[in-house]
Amino acid sequence: MTSTATTRTFVVEDPATLDLVAEVEDHGPEGAVHAVDAAAAALGAWGRTAPRHRSEVLARAHTLMLRDRDELASLIARENGKSLADAAAEVTYAAEFFRWFAEEAVRPGGEYGEAPAGGVRTLVTHRPVGVAALVTPWNFPAAMATRKIAPALAAGCTVVLKPAAETPLTAIAVARLLTEAGVPEGVVNLVPTTDAAGVVGAWLADGRVRKISFTGSTAVGRLLLGQAASRVVNASMELGGNAPVVVAADADIEAAVAGAMVAKFRNGGQACTAANRLYVHADVAEQFVARFGAEVEKLTVGPAHNGAAIGPLITAAARDRVERVVETAVGEGARISHRAALPDAPGHFYPPTVLVDVPADAAILKEEIFGPVAPVVTWTDEAELLELVNDTEYGLAAYVFSGDLGHAIRLGEAIEAGMVGINRGLVSDPSAPFGGVKQSGLGREGAKDGLREFQETQYLSIDWP
Ligand code: NAD
Repeated sequence: MTSTATTRTFVVEDPATLDLVAEVEDHGPEGAVHAVDAAAAALGAWGRTAPRHRSEVLARAHTLMLRDRDELASLIARENGKSLADAAAEVTYAAEFFRWFAEEAVRPGGEYGEAPAGGVRTLVTHRPVGVAALVTPWNFPAAMATRKIAPALAAGCTVVLKPAAETPLTAIAVARLLTEAGVPEGVVNLVPTTDAAGVVGAWLADGRVRKISFTGSTAVGRLLLGQAASRVVNASMELGGNAPVVVAADADIEAAVAGAMVAKFRNGGQACTAANRLYVHADVAEQFVARFGAEVEKLTVGPAHNGAAIGPLITAAARDRVERVVETAVGEGARISHRAALPDAPGHFYPPTVLVDVPADAAILKEEIFGPVAPVVTWTDEAELLELVNDTEYGLAAYVFSGDLGHAIRLGEAIEAGMVGINRGLVSDPSAPFGGVKQSGLGREGAKDGLREFQETQYLSIDWP
């Protein structure tokens, strides 16, 4: 891990207790350029290492991350606020990207073929794209980092990484593990900062940076795509979502409730794949809401280290925003049917809430809630349902519950989303291509596709006299 010295610092706060967790060096554009100096200097040697070597380093990183799972989970819970169960699941998921890309590192791909006219041979290879700039959000501080670092290193790239200012400590811990796993100096360079625009702007203006891989909001993604355009920087974007959950009349209601609980409340609803709107068939709506509401009321809210299932929102501003979104929905005719209890604690808590009688055109159905609120809309006509479901600029995840698999697949294929969970509330899997359509993003992470995002294709057209 490389980072340059600075005298400025910023504070990381526990959003559940408002305690100070740590002070971290606050780098500016100058630190950003120094990080690129280190990444550019290390690129040639790292890119020339044998794929097997890179694979073994990543495999060690996987082992070390699991060795430190409890410690890392505790750190994630402290700086992000999510429950210890969610944090431990994140560490396992995050580590899995090291294992998956350790396995993919030795399969960089390539082809040898003959041109249709005969004679000339075509030799296709996939080469590292170069120094890659990685920018990650606070909601999965470990997994969003490893989902980018692992394929980049597998491909032979070196990286500069800017973690979110709310949660830099997990990224720092992951970078330390990578050093222990054998990643050489200069290959992974961390730049914690409160000046995101200054640091990332410096990278996008630097001719040595050939790749930007961003996970965050669609608004910031648009901004970075604009900046990347000026030098035609290769861009991968994992952006916001507005995931629908569709419960059909023929669904197994217990399975639908269990799936909707995971899709909605994992990470307290602060996930890009989080269920944002629940469309339940009118024939089963009453039964579904009664069972789902009962589960929501059982959720314990509070600091992770007290064993709570749901933590706080990341900041006071995020909490106030969720409160406003719910107030607006109630003003538009929605009704709070079920709600969990709030803890007697100082953090940014918002109670898990179910909203019913939500008008189909309510504002809450159009924007990312990013909190533990589940608006339920009832439907009867499938064509109208699909129009509502697809009436959004987003297209990341969706969930469909139906006891008839053919019906579920037909619905899934009609929904404009990069990922559809069928009879389950979780789609993330390192072996599957994670990503969105429409304004939810460009490119894919995980699977073979994730490696390709950090490679460029070259072919040699070969003749021999
Ligand atoms: P955000 O866009 O505010 O921040 C994401 C990252 O971008 C952070 O590191 C932040 O510091 C940085 N950033 C902010 N402004 C910037 C600027 N002007 N220039 C350069 N960098 C800047 O998003 P967030 O609030 O941290 O995260 C929540 C968002 O991320 C949600 O919209 C969520 O859906 C999305 N998200 C998407 C995925 C996915 O895989 N598609 C995964 C997790 C989160």
